[in-house]
Amino acid sequence: MTSILTARWLLPITSPPIDGGAVAIENELILEIGNLQELQKRYPDASVRDFGNCAILPGLVNVHTHLELTVFRGRLEESHFQSWIRRLITLKAERLTTDDLMLSARLGCIESIRSGVTTLADTSDSSGPIIALIESGLRGSIFQEVFGPDELQAGSSLEGLKARLDAHAERLNSAGREAQNRITVGVSPHAPYSVSAKLYQAVARLALDQKLDVAIHAAESADEAALLRDGGGAFGESLHRREIRFDPPGCSTIGYFDRLGVLDTSPLLIHCVTIDESDIALMAAKKARVAHCPKSNAKFGHGVAPLNLLRQAGLPVGLGTDSAASNNNLDLIEEARFCSMIARAERKDAAVCSADEMLRMMTIDGARTLGIDHTIGSIEPGKQADLIVVDLNNPHNLPSYDPATAIIFSSSGRDVIMTMVAGRVLYSDGLVSSIDEKLVGEQILEIQNRL
Ligand SMILES: [Zn+2]
Repeated sequence: MTSILTARWLLPITSPPIDGGAVAIENELILEIGNLQELQKRYPDASVRDFGNCAILPGLVNVHTHLELTVFRGRLEESHFQSWIRRLITLKAERLTTDDLMLSARLGCIESIRSGVTTLADTSDSSGPIIALIESGLRGSIFQEVFGPDELQAGSSLEGLKARLDAHAERLNSAGREAQNRITVGVSPHAPYSVSAKLYQAVARLALDQKLDVAIHAAESADEAALLRDGGGAFGESLHRREIRFDPPGCSTIGYFDRLGVLDTSPLLIHCVTIDESDIALMAAKKARVAHCPKSNAKFGHGVAPLNLLRQAGLPVGLGTDSAASNNNLDLIEEARFCSMIARAERKDAAVCSADEMLRMMTIDGARTLGIDHTIGSIEPGKQADLIVVDLNNPHNLPSYDPATAIIFSSSGRDVIMTMVAGRVLYSDGLVSSIDEKLVGEQILEIQNRL
C-alpha cells in the first residue's frame, strides 16, 4: 500500500527544501519525493495525509544517550563531575533493580519518539535499553559498556562483556528480523579513568575480531587529562584512594588510545572537549567519529569541544544529548540550538553553525557518524521511511519565513507531531503507539519515591 505525506515544507536535507513537497512511501521504504500534484499523478491510488503548515524532515539521529539513566533526571545536580559519577554509581547499585533500569530506558524511548528522534546510539550497562529499543520500534545501536580500572579485573571484565553480548544476540534473535534490521550491538569500554590499559587492548582486539562498533567517552574533562598526564586530578586521587594502580602514559587521551590500538577500531569518540590539533589529525587518520554533546559538556563546566576544527578535518560529527542525568532532557532540537549558540558565542562569529548546518548535523551527519547514511538521514528514494513532522503553527514558531530557521531557532522537540520509523508510525495525534505511556509514567513516579 502506497501512502503520501505532504506539508507546507518537505526538507530532504541532501537536496533543497520543497515548498508544498510530498513524499511517497511503501512499506518501510521511501519511493519518491516531489510536489503533491506530481506524486498524486504517479500514485493515484495512494492515501494522502496532509499536515498543513508543518515541515516533514528525516528522523533525527541522537548519537549519544544512556537511556537507562533517564530516571535520574534532576536527581544528580552535584557540582563536580567526579562526585556526580560516584553518586550515580551508588544510587544505581543500591536503590535500583534491573526492572527499574528497563523502565527508565522505556521513559527515554518515549521522550525520544515524542521529540522526533528515530535513531539513537546508546551506551548502557544493563539489558534495559536493548529490551526497550526492541519494543519501542526505534532504530539504534546498543553499545554494551564494560568497566574495570584495575588491571587485575581485565580478564573477568572481558568475560562479562562477552556474556552480555551473547545475551543481546539471543534477544535480537528471538525478537525476529524486523528488530534485527533496526538494531545493532557494539561495545563501549567506558572511559580512561574506569578501564585499564590492559582491558582497552583486549576490548579493541575483540572488536576488530568480531567487527563490533566501539564507542568511548574520551577527552571529556580536565581531570581526565590530568590523570593521563601525570596521574593527578580528581580521578587520580580516587584511583589512589581505592589502591588501584594507574601508570600515567604522559600523553593525551587520543594519543593513549592510539598507543593501545583502540584507534584502530575507528571508534565513536564521545565528548572530545580537551583535544588539540595533533589529536584531531590522529583521529582523522584513524577515521574516528565524534559524538558532540554540547549541553552536557557545558552543564558539567567542562568546556566547548572544537567543533569547527573537527569538521574542517573531515571527521563525521553527530549530535548527542548524553543522558537525562546530565542534560536534563533528550531533546535534540534544543541540543542543536544550544550547539549553534555556544559555538557562535565562543568563536565570536555568527557565521558558524547555521540553521541549515544544524539540520544536517541532526540528520545526515548523525547517520554518517553511525555509518548508516546509506539507509537513513535524508529523505531520498530507496532509503528507510524514517520521517518526522514539525508543527509550525505554534505562537513560538509563527511566522516561519524559512523552515530551517524556524525549526532550529524557534522550535523544540515538543513541536514534533508525528514520528515514523521504517514506515511505522510510532507517534501521532499526541500518543506513542508502541509503549504504554501512562503505565510507564506511573511506574517512574514509584521509582522516584525510592530515589
Ligand atoms: Zn555519556
